[in-house]
Amino acid sequence: MRQSDFCHGGVSVDFEYTAEQVQLRKAVREFAEAEIAPHVAEWDEGQIFPLDVIRKLGKLGYMGAIFPEELGGGGLGYIEYSIIIEELSRVDGSVGIIVAAHTSLCSNHIYKMGSDEQRRHYIPKLASGEWIGCWSLTEPEAGSDAAGTRTTAAMDNGEWVLNGAKTFTTNAHYADVCVAMAVTDRAAAQHGISAFVIEKDTPGFRAGKKENKLGLRASATGEVIFDGCRLKPCHLLGKLNEGFVDSLRVLDGGRISIAALSIGMAQGAYDAALHYSKLRKQFGRPISEFQAIQHKLVDMAVEIDAARLLNYRAASMLDRGLRVTKESSMAKLFASEAAVRIAGEAVQIHGGYGFIKDYPVEKFYRDVKLCTIGEGTSEIQRLVIARQLLKS
Ligand SMILES: Cc1cc2nc3c(=O)[nH]c(=O)nc-3n(C[C@H](O)[C@H](O)[C@H](O)COP(=O)(O)OP(=O)(O)OC[C@H]3O[C@@H](n4cnc5c(N)ncnc54)[C@H](O)[C@@H]3O)c2cc1C
Repeated sequence: MRQSDFCHGGVSVDFEYTAEQVQLRKAVREFAEAEIAPHVAEWDEGQIFPLDVIRKLGKLGYMGAIFPEELGGGGLGYIEYSIIIEELSRVDGSVGIIVAAHTSLCSNHIYKMGSDEQRRHYIPKLASGEWIGCWSLTEPEAGSDAAGTRTTAAMDNGEWVLNGAKTFTTNAHYADVCVAMAVTDRAAAQHGISAFVIEKDTPGFRAGKKENKLGLRASATGEVIFDGCRLKPCHLLGKLNEGFVDSLRVLDGGRISIAALSIGMAQGAYDAALHYSKLRKQFGRPISEFQAIQHKLVDMAVEIDAARLLNYRAASMLDRGLRVTKESSMAKLFASEAAVRIAGEAVQIHGGYGFIKDYPVEKFYRDVKLCTIGEGTSEIQRLVIARQLLKS
């Protein structure tokens, strides 16, 4: 996928991966199969956060792929970033979401909206995996309606004082750095919310309850609590009162990573189902010879390709600095809903064995559901896309 060619409204479209992209996919797949696959079931069962793997991913340059090399990043684009998330998620969606929340939410918010000083302080540590990042927008009473944030930040003696609680924050319990949104001017509604960057040991800041989840159980999701948390003015991220608007821009890129997470898990489920269908014999022949099974495999393969193409279009546009609100929402909506269907069919192709934890499709079936919820539910994606369509 040459970024310059795969263009929205452009004259030419090149559907070939570059040699570097082929090599990148191969390298990440080999890493995932060697370092992640043997532990997936144990991590899932025990809800074990794969810290060692995250540190190794950092050393390989996969924790900051989209940031410039001078800041310690990989100097890559969103297509390459998607390839990394896809290949990790093809083996374990938990690793995929950990890297995605760290990179395109926390680190990217700092990179896009931060001062030069903030970028130089945080990005190299985050890109190397030395530090893990989390991003806290959602609150118990402010999910889809994220502008309903209740956490407050008020000035006192030249310092910001944060009070409130966030919920459902990915990486909350392992994060060295948190980007969080708080109300700084209640009367101004969504133009009265600001972003702050908070380091782990700051007094008054801590992770709260860790959720016991249906899926993606090796990733840690939970509360972030601010209890009189005092921050120097240099911890304001971006312009005062623009944190919510900036968050929406950050989510444009984040949704590409959730599409990639969906595609990766769908690919993993499809690969397992294809393999199983050739081995499993009923009525004296492999079940892959039954047309009903073939049609399932065909529909799965078509949906994976369609999801990938939608996502690479959004990725390519973002790399060229174009606004991708509609395209990234379309990619996330289609890829996540397709992935839920694909994981369901993968279980169906496995019959009773698909219901058993010895086979990987049971876990994909549980894990993939998050993709229609996180970073905006399917209903909210439709709302976002409808607004964009009605604008034209
Ligand atoms: C595993 C996991 C990881 C997450 N990671 C993060 C993270 O790192 N950082 C973060 O900030 N958040 C994170 N989230 C939160 C996630 O983004 C929210 O759960 C999501 O945005 C939905 O919010 P809600 O759960 O409050 O649901 P609600 O907003 O209460 O929605 C409930 C239902 O109502 C529907 N609905 C709501 N409003 C409308 C409307 N206007 N029109 C039509 N339907 C509507 C929704 O689509 C949904 O079906 C995570 C969530 C999970 C489960």
